[in-house]
Amino acid sequence: MSAVNEKPQYKAWFESLDDPSERHALDEIVYTDAGGGLLQVVHDMDELKKVAAEEWKQRFEVRRGGSEWPYGSGVWCMKEWILPEIDSNNVVSMYEGNTNLFWAERFGREIGVEDLWLKLCGNSHTGSFKDLGMTVLVSMVNDMISRGKEIPAVACASTGDTSAALSAYAAAAGIPSIVFLPRGKISMAQLIQPVSNGAIVFALDTDFDGCMEIVRQVAEKDGVYLANSMNSLRIEGQKTISTEIVQQFQWEVPDWLVIPGGNLGNVSALAKGLDMMLELGLIKRKPRICVAQAESANPLYLSYLKDFEVFEPIAARTTVASAIQIGNPVSIKKAIDALRRYDGVVEQASEGEIVEACAAADRTGLFNCPHTGVAIAATRKLVDRGLIKPDDRVVVISTAHGLKFVDFKLDYHNMALADHVPEHANPPIELPADYGQVRDRMLHEIDTRRSG
Ligand SMILES: *Cc1c(COP(=O)(O)O)cnc(C)c1O
Repeated sequence: MSAVNEKPQYKAWFESLDDPSERHALDEIVYTDAGGGLLQVVHDMDELKKVAAEEWKQRFEVRRGGSEWPYGSGVWCMKEWILPEIDSNNVVSMYEGNTNLFWAERFGREIGVEDLWLKLCGNSHTGSFKDLGMTVLVSMVNDMISRGKEIPAVACASTGDTSAALSAYAAAAGIPSIVFLPRGKISMAQLIQPVSNGAIVFALDTDFDGCMEIVRQVAEKDGVYLANSMNSLRIEGQKTISTEIVQQFQWEVPDWLVIPGGNLGNVSALAKGLDMMLELGLIKRKPRICVAQAESANPLYLSYLKDFEVFEPIAARTTVASAIQIGNPVSIKKAIDALRRYDGVVEQASEGEIVEACAAADRTGLFNCPHTGVAIAATRKLVDRGLIKPDDRVVVISTAHGLKFVDFKLDYHNMALADHVPEHANPPIELPADYGQVRDRMLHEIDTRRSG
């Protein structure tokens, strides 16, 4: 039928970052190029350009949040930009994305920037932005399996959230999953997710980088499919963070995007979404990007101080922001390229600054994970340095739900943190069940909170 032939033939493939002549099909099991470098997913932009920018916007607006499978998802509403060739019946989606923007009006006023927003990516099925990338990766694997490819299981190393997302999507598709976690270094909530979803869970006596070494080996030698962010399929889903934000602001581009960074896949994805919107004419202007790192795991920050001319991996030290405790980020090259394209800056935050940023923002109605705390602390520093102007529109990417990370909040409010005396501790008041005593204390507390 001619109508079918007239339909645009959107295509995407893996391409080597270093050598664009090296290409692979998206259903090929390949994670790196011939030289061991990263691959990226490249789209046939000429085909996508045949649709006008206004038409794309309209398509996304009509589909997003609706019930037509799988287009209601914040990721799959942009299917042509993500995995154009996949059969929709093989998509494994939990209608991820479509997360809300929180106008941090009170907190913004406190730090001196009124147009401050948090993109609450943690308001998602497994409680972090990792769902956005995992729906794409697991869908691709599901599609490959349905066409007879031999894939015994999917596997990842994780600082907690990747394994939660992988095990949930794999369980939904009925595909075995294996996760490698650094023993004792992730939260209880993160650990119980893959356990509950029936993943094969390994808690190894090492850090994230050590788990990464193991998973690389099982992928290479035992044929399990690697789900870490060196697999660039995940970036395709995560890039919808920026398109979604821009759409939520009626296609107006914010002045700043502030994002916490560990393995640096997420900032690469953020920039990739912007790149595509610019190239296809949906936006005209670039935002600036700030990557925020914990001082204890700051290899990108150290490189930034040297204008990115050198990069040296470090041994990451313990940080309350455990999901970004990474010393040798896989996506370093993509991240540096992204920061160069978006007039980027890198800022860091100490452990004390992280917990205080979380606590201060929580008191204005938020409930932040520590990684979001890193980004908030960085935002505050950029405002203080005058880089972020008082009337700039700033969007902080909140990467996970605070409920996944309550241990540090308990320690903070119980004044049980090592080496830090909290400024905003608010421990429960323990009293006998006696009206007189309760009333006296209550009136006193109301009074102090009003004046404070
Ligand atoms: C994975 C993760 C990050 C870091 O993202 P990268 O892509 O590794 O830089 C930040 N915050 C949370 C909650 C995460 O799970």
